[in-house]
Order: sequence, then C-alpha cells, then structure tokens
Amino acid sequence: MILIVDDNQNNIYSLKKLLESKDFQVDTAESGEEALGKALKNNYALIILDVQMPGMDGFEVAETFAGYSKTKEIPIIFLSAVNTEKQFITRGYESGGIDYVTKPIDPDILLLKVKTFYNLQENSLAMKKSQQSLELEVKGRREAQVTMRSEIDHFHLMLEALPQIAFTLDGNGKVTFVNSKWFQYSKSENIFPQTHPDDHSILLEFERCRRKGSALQLESRIKNIETGEFRYHLLRMSPVYNGKSIKNWVGTFTDIEDQKKVEKEKDEFLSIASHELKTPLTSIKAYMQLLERKLKGYDGNTEASFVTKALSQVEKLNTLITDLLDVSKIENGKLKINKKRNNLDNVINNAIDTILQTHDDKVKITRHGFIPDILIPFDEIRIEQVLINFLTNAIKYSPENNQVIVTTFVDETEVRVSVTDFGIGIPDFKQDAVFKKFYRVEESSLQFQGMGIGLYICSEIINQHDGTIGLSSVVEEGSTFYFTLPLN
Ligand code: ADP
Repeated sequence: MILIVDDNQNNIYSLKKLLESKDFQVDTAESGEEALGKALKNNYALIILDVQMPGMDGFEVAETFAGYSKTKEIPIIFLSAVNTEKQFITRGYESGGIDYVTKPIDPDILLLKVKTFYNLQENSLAMKKSQQSLELEVKGRREAQVTMRSEIDHFHLMLEALPQIAFTLDGNGKVTFVNSKWFQYSKSENIFPQTHPDDHSILLEFERCRRKGSALQLESRIKNIETGEFRYHLLRMSPVYNGKSIKNWVGTFTDIEDQKKVEKEKDEFLSIASHELKTPLTSIKAYMQLLERKLKGYDGNTEASFVTKALSQVEKLNTLITDLLDVSKIENGKLKINKKRNNLDNVINNAIDTILQTHDDKVKITRHGFIPDILIPFDEIRIEQVLINFLTNAIKYSPENNQVIVTTFVDETEVRVSVTDFGIGIPDFKQDAVFKKFYRVEESSLQFQGMGIGLYICSEIINQHDGTIGLSSVVEEGSTFYFTLPLN
C-alpha cells in the first residue's frame, strides 16, 4: 500500500486517482503527525510526502520516520512546488528521501518512479522475509545439532557405564564408537575382537544380518588380548532404523563364560546321573516284568495288580531318564537321526494307538487330512517320539476337555502334521520359549508335572530333519503344535 501525505485535499485527490487507476492501493494522511501514526500501525511499501505542510514539514516527518525501526526502511518520494532549489533537494535526500519530485508533476514520470520504487520495496521486503526465515531455520538447525550432540554424548556416557563391551556402527557397518571395555579384546576400535577358530565369524554373520536388515544374536568365544584367553560372549547387534533405511547399529558383548561353565557342569552331571540311573532301572524293570508274568497265572491276585501299577511307574521313570539322556546327547552333538524312507501315516496311527492304550477311555483323538501313499525319509522312532510328546501334552494340558485332533497336510515340498487341543493354552509372549531347555510356563507348572524338556528334544529332532516346528495358541481356548518334514 502507498501512503500519500499532503495538507491539500485536492492534491491528495488527484494523486490518489492517478495511482488507483494503475491498481495501487492507496492510503492518505493530511499532516505529518497523522502520517506517523498511520505508518506505525500499517505496512506501507512507499510514502509520497509533500514538503510544505503546516506543523511538521515533509523533511521533519521523514527525519522522524528514520528514527523508528518500523518506518525507517519505507522509501519516501518528496513532492514540492516551492522548494525546488538545490539546497532543498539535498535536504530531502539527507532526511531519508529516495527521490525529490518538483511540481508541476508529469504523471507518467511519477507513475514510473512509483512503480520502480514500489517494486524495489516489495522485492526487498520479500528478500528480508526469506532471509529472516532462513536465519530462523539456521538457528533451529544449530539448536537441533547442539541437542543431538548432547544426546549422543549422553548415550555414549551410558554405553561407557555398561558392564558389557558396547559399540556403535554406522549404516555401512563402520565402527563409530566403542567403550573402554572394547580395548580388553581389541587393539583398535576399527578391528572386531578375534573369535575362536571353531566359532562363527562375527563379520560374516553381521554381513548376513545387515543384508536382511535384522538383529544379530550370537554366542562366540573372543580373545582377551592381555591374557590370551578365549571367553564366551553373547553378541547382540540391533539396527536403528530411520524410516526404511538403517541409520546405525548398537552392539554389546556380554561375558557369559561363567554361566557357560555352570551350564556345562550341570549338563555333565545330568549326563552321568541319567546314565548311572538307567542301568539299575533296566534290571528293576526286567525283574518286575518277570514277576508280573508269574503272578498273572493266579486269578484274582491283588499282588499282580500292584506289580502292574509299579511297572507303569517304572515306565514313567524310564521315559524321564531317557529324555534326560536325550538332552545330554543333544548337548554333546550325539543325538543321531537314522533316516529311512517310511510311511508317515503308519507312524501317526501307531503313536495314536500307544496314547489311547496308556490313557483312559475318555480321551478322543480324531484324524483330519490325508497323506498320499508315499514314502518320506525320516527317523521312525524319533518322529513317533515327537508325536507322542505332542499328544501327551495335548491331553495333559487340557484337564477339562479330552478332545484332540491330529491334522495332516501335504503339498509339493513338505508334509505338515499338527496336534490341536482345547486346553489351557499358552500366553502369546511365552510361546517361543516353550522349545527351550527346561522351560515351563509358570502359570501351569504347579498344576501339571513335567520337566520342560520334551519340546526341546522335539525341536532338536525336527531341526535335524530340516523341518520346522511351531505352535499357535490362545489362552483358555487351546493350542496347536505342528511340525513339517521335507518330502525329499
Ligand atoms: P513338560 O510338559 O514336561 O513341562 P514340555 O517341553 O513338553 O515339558 O513343554 C514345555 C512347556 O510348554 C510345558 O511346561 C507347558 O507349560 C507348555 N505346553 C506344552 N504343551 C502344551 C499344551 N498343549 N498346552 C498348553 N501348554 C503346553
């Protein structure tokens, strides 16, 4: 908007008409005081100021405008009919004017000047605005940088305080920070600790996870550079995502050497104990079977029923010890799988028969699905063991419902067998853990007997067959445990 300041209303009128004819927005003031008041309130792109006015003359008005930050930048064109001499023109420029036009005015020339100054002012205002917003952005970025720096420092301090070796990598896998414990296992921050020759290579495993964009978890022995000793560590490396790309990685090595030693001693103890128990138990079982056969000759003999009951308990003990032996075989890598081409349908039916014979009549096992008459390579005894385990659990963990469904499904590459029950179910977040050694779901562990090793052995057996094992379960509704076997 343009402000015209003149004490003569006729002048104002004609000038206003002239400017409005060229689409300029115009405001007017009849004195210097009024002009100042308006200029402090509104934003003007140009002021056309009459020099001769009663009260404040044009020069004084311009000088006053120069004293206010809001008005000092507004370009002023002086208009004068009387003071056309050089000294007045000079004063006009000195008091802050950008042009001095003498009357009578040539409207075309005045309009050209107004247009030029108006555009110049608009441009300079726009530039100022963008400069201000740039400055604001730079300031914001600087502040964000300072905050980020202090957050990174804080994060590094936290990593330094950890009892573990801690480090960070950039998105390309280059080390960007290591805490001081790193240097017990490596001379340089750019070199990963040396792993035991029998263990997985950290760099290869990391590269594999980096390509997939997934976290890495690895147990590995790394060499302490002072003692030369290899100690077991659990390495965890997690990607930190920025949208879809990995910004960096945070990693830790946790020393699990002592834990590993205790575990090893426990496994050794289990292995020795179960071996030592197995031999006397086998002869007890044999003698009891002889006794049972002898007593069965006499009708209505209560001793015979006692012996039968004792034998069934001996059988349970035998299963427990066999399971413990299997665990120690797994630990020592000695659980051997003897694969032959077999008929899976027969094995499933055998397992169901065994379960029906050893449980009361209320238990109902239904079969769904169909297996074509093909031979699949698997270890008959071990797969039957898995099925018996699934079925025993399905009945054990369903105290209110005796219904179990065995479903089979075959496609071009694999066969899938699942066992469904309608029992107590397993909470979501505990489902992965049930295949771990000695794991039992807390909620059910008091109510039902068990050692938590059956599913661990099953998962090892299925892994050795290159199959998959898993479950889906809903608390209070039931569970489905399944395994798959490749057809070839
Ligand atoms: P065990 O039954 O001897 O405890 P398992 O290894 O067979 O050991 O099972 C591990 C745990 O998984 C069990 O303790 C139980 O908490 C849970 N579980 C297994 N099967 C079922 C099932 N069908 N329904 C509910 N929970 C189950």
